[in-house]
Amino acid sequence: MRLLLIDDDTLDRMSAMRALKKSGDPMDVTEACSAEEGLELSKIHKFDLILLDYQLPSMSGLELLKLLRGGTNYNPPVVMLSHSDDETLALRCIEEGAQDFIIKSEVTGSRLMRAISHAKERYRIEQALRESHAKLRLLAEVDSLTGLANRYMFESALKDALPLAKRLKRSVAMVMLDLDKFKYVNDTLGHAAGDVLLSQVAKRLQGPVRDGDLLCRLGGDEFAILIHDLDDISKVRRLTDRLLSALEAPFKVEGQELIISASIGISTYPECASDNIQLMKCADVALYRSKEGGRNQAQFYSRELHDQIQTRIELERDLHLAIERHELFLHYQPQIDAQSEKVIGVEALIRWQHPEKGLISPDKFIPIAEETGLIVDIGNWVFETAIKQFQSWQLRFQSPNFNLLIAINLSAIQLGQTGLIETIDQLLSTFDVEPHRLELELTESAISDNNDLCIQLLKDLADKGIVLAIDDFGTGYSSLQQLKNHPFKVLKIDRSFIQTICENKDDLQLLKAIGAFAKTLGMEIVAEGVETEQQKNWCQSLQFDRIQGYYFAKPMSPADFEKAYVDQLLSA
Ligand code: C2E
Ligand code: MG
Ligand code: MG
Repeated sequence: MRLLLIDDDTLDRMSAMRALKKSGDPMDVTEACSAEEGLELSKIHKFDLILLDYQLPSMSGLELLKLLRGGTNYNPPVVMLSHSDDETLALRCIEEGAQDFIIKSEVTGSRLMRAISHAKERYRIEQALRESHAKLRLLAEVDSLTGLANRYMFESALKDALPLAKRLKRSVAMVMLDLDKFKYVNDTLGHAAGDVLLSQVAKRLQGPVRDGDLLCRLGGDEFAILIHDLDDISKVRRLTDRLLSALEAPFKVEGQELIISASIGISTYPECASDNIQLMKCADVALYRSKEGGRNQAQFYSRELHDQIQTRIELERDLHLAIERHELFLHYQPQIDAQSEKVIGVEALIRWQHPEKGLISPDKFIPIAEETGLIVDIGNWVFETAIKQFQSWQLRFQSPNFNLLIAINLSAIQLGQTGLIETIDQLLSTFDVEPHRLELELTESAISDNNDLCIQLLKDLADKGIVLAIDDFGTGYSSLQQLKNHPFKVLKIDRSFIQTICENKDDLQLLKAIGAFAKTLGMEIVAEGVETEQQKNWCQSLQFDRIQGYYFAKPMSPADFEKAYVDQLLSA
């Protein structure tokens, strides 16, 4: 065993040496007669234990103990020796990392050896504890899948970074990155493949990240980078460009090539937020915007962005309550028979009377309803309200020639709704409305990414006698060929075409061709958004079947509709 004895008192050193010798254990003891010498020796050699005098001339033993303990990982056990039997002093020494404390007057061979072996044992236990603590720390701070720092470490680093940046008057940036459509990989290839992909992504992201900046995996497919000491904001832009291009090459996972992109949100301190929690929220807001903006891009946080997203979050929250609070209602826009110029149908158009924000148009809230799945409940409410309304008109304007149609917009999401046909069936029979009175309007995009199930559903609806219309025709990408394969009976030509009908000869030719083609398929044509007499005349000369638009009437309440069309409807 190698021992270092640090004591300035020669007599004390000698008595200690004697006691050690008496113990009979083989011992290699190095003596140091000052704190400085002891410190020096402890740096050069590896000792199994240090015997340290409490009273040293240049510094107290306690101070030296701190220096001995403050150095490297190598920390041999220390036994303090003192003339004093002050218990508080003994306790302080133990607290500062000594393993034992012996009063010099009690030093005997056996007492020393007992202290040495206790000290060594205690030291061993402390060391083991320290190691497991370090391991735990590693576990707590490192993401086991990718080896990157984890959320915990990121958050604490961010917390530390901000006060420092404030003192140094520097900026800090936080980049939040989320893989696009990662869920798809997990769902189709399984979680193990998802994990492989994540660790490959982590490796690629490491490339562009500067030493000193912290890349971490926040969890799931979300990564973050903390950029210290930012002097030029354009550096963040360059970094995010490099991050996105680092992901460009296909990934190889389980023999498959995967193309993966990411969306990025960026926020900076102190420009965007004054604390770490807000800064993360801002990056999250910007990330959300990148996703909405079509993915594979990076967005900086800004106040306007915040407001937009705030509004959207509020709308989403309030939309959940809109039905039960009776804030939704329907307006009806007449469709006019192109030849007789008499009303032939109505399109039900939803409105939302928000308690604070006022009247909100469907273009603003239907997309939210679709994303959140609320469209199913809202759609059902629309069906019920419109069909019920139609029944009351049927009863009021009862005549053998009553031939009004009710058109209802159907979102693509609703096609995936379970029991859609049953719901419609039930409502039609409850309110005694014949299926051929009901026209369902679907936009081109709703049918362009459809599948076999949806085609079957459309066929089933058509088989029941329900009329299917394609809405906003000309704005999507559906081909005429596609139309042939679906049981659509009505083609609604989008307003944008009608608007140019008078000026643009090419559009006019196209409309003529579409009209001719639709006729050969036996489809009816409805012109949407007809606002002027000239447009109306063109629609008539092109032999369109129905006209809908402000020229004849805007969408209106049921009462206004009845008032405006009572004569026409009664004389039918
Ligand atoms: P849409 O189905 O194409 O409905 C026609 C839209 O054009 C309506 O807007 C209507 O007010 C407007 N419009 C009609 N004639 C004219 C015109 O002459 N000039 C101009 N400038 N506009 C005209 P609205 O009511 O704001 O509805 C917008 C869209 O929201 C609808 O387009 C439809 O896609 C959707 N929507 C409305 N109600 C519902 C609903 O109950 N369910 C679903 N899923 N979507 C709905
Ligand atoms: Mg429509
Ligand atoms: Mg339309």
